[in-house]
Amino acid sequence: MPINPYGWIEESLTTIHRADWYRSVQTIQSLPGATVLLEGRLVINFASNDYLGLAGDQRLIAAATAALKEYGTGSTGSRLLSGQRKLHRDLEKAIASLKQTEDSVVFSSGYLANIGAISALVGKRDLILSDQYNHSSLKNGAILSGATVIEYPHCDVTTLTTQLTQQRQNYRRCLIITDSVFSMDGDLCPLPALLKAAEEFSSMLLVDEAHATGVMGKTGAGCVEHFECTGRQLIQIGTLSKALGSLGGYIAGSATLVDFLRNRAPSWIYTTALSPADTAAALVAINIVQHEPIGRIQLWRNVDYLKDLFLEQLPNLKLLPSESPILCLQLPTPADALKVGQQLKSAGIFAPAIRPPTVPTSRIRISVMATHELAQIEQLVEVLKGIN
Ligand SMILES: *Cc1c(COP(=O)(O)O)cnc(C)c1O
Repeated sequence: MPINPYGWIEESLTTIHRADWYRSVQTIQSLPGATVLLEGRLVINFASNDYLGLAGDQRLIAAATAALKEYGTGSTGSRLLSGQRKLHRDLEKAIASLKQTEDSVVFSSGYLANIGAISALVGKRDLILSDQYNHSSLKNGAILSGATVIEYPHCDVTTLTTQLTQQRQNYRRCLIITDSVFSMDGDLCPLPALLKAAEEFSSMLLVDEAHATGVMGKTGAGCVEHFECTGRQLIQIGTLSKALGSLGGYIAGSATLVDFLRNRAPSWIYTTALSPADTAAALVAINIVQHEPIGRIQLWRNVDYLKDLFLEQLPNLKLLPSESPILCLQLPTPADALKVGQQLKSAGIFAPAIRPPTVPTSRIRISVMATHELAQIEQLVEVLKGIN
């Protein structure tokens, strides 16, 4: 009797349910912002990566609308064929200006930027050293490249150095890859020490500034600026879809690197160029980040305020170490995380449970926005006190 070759899918789903790992989507029915309409009810939004509140900003909406009217909805082809508009190069120059690099290249998402860049930079004869907590796109880029991948314990430069000492000479090229702000934890990579190790062992360093761009550093350029490493040789990747409120990804670095990627990154060459509306919105966002520090000032004021309230009023909460607007509340089990997430939602607070396999331990992930009012932050703390 032939067995159903698709039957395993349902069994697999049952297993996922049993572990409390099952995920489902929730629909937002309003403009993005500090409050959103979530499945019919107004909630305070601590679930968004829109740190500066730009995704609902009228200036981005106006720029996207104008680009739509001028260039249409789709870019109709890859950049190397019919997809290129002047907007794309304008955006790439603006990113390079923000990052103070020679050039940059935009991809259709941050995920595509990572898998494209990593698989173009290293191959079978090469070595990748990867932080254990790296984002999925870095990990999958590493797998796709065919290089030997060795993980080092989270932010542990001592172990990384030992691995370099033991392994570096067995490979042609070496690439160290890391998030700069760790997306599900909120802590920062030890960038100066990583750069030093990379330089000492003739290795390339790729930092993923997805949660840092627009947020970290004096001008919002990211962790590279925060750690005063601007101008050093390294590869920066990031996204246009978090603090920049649009969609897309980028690589910033030397002109040679960017030129090479335009010739060798399959996820840039063989995919449709970023849409005109997304490109125009991101361009305005970069301008705002560069010329209006007020958003960043408000964001950090809010982060500091929430951290102070946690210390004063919720001393028993287990917060993961964070130096970013991402604050994580550690919980013992996936079921606990789901329960707290649900209780928060019932009390009008949107902050999601993050569970394995995304992270090793379950947590509630709170992301602070520049546009939160102090009263909204106080309300989060009040609700958490009730649950505690
Ligand atoms: C979100 C994220 C990405 C992916 O960016 P998208 O533009 O959403 O595809 C890559 N790296 C990190 C660290 C991220 O947090």
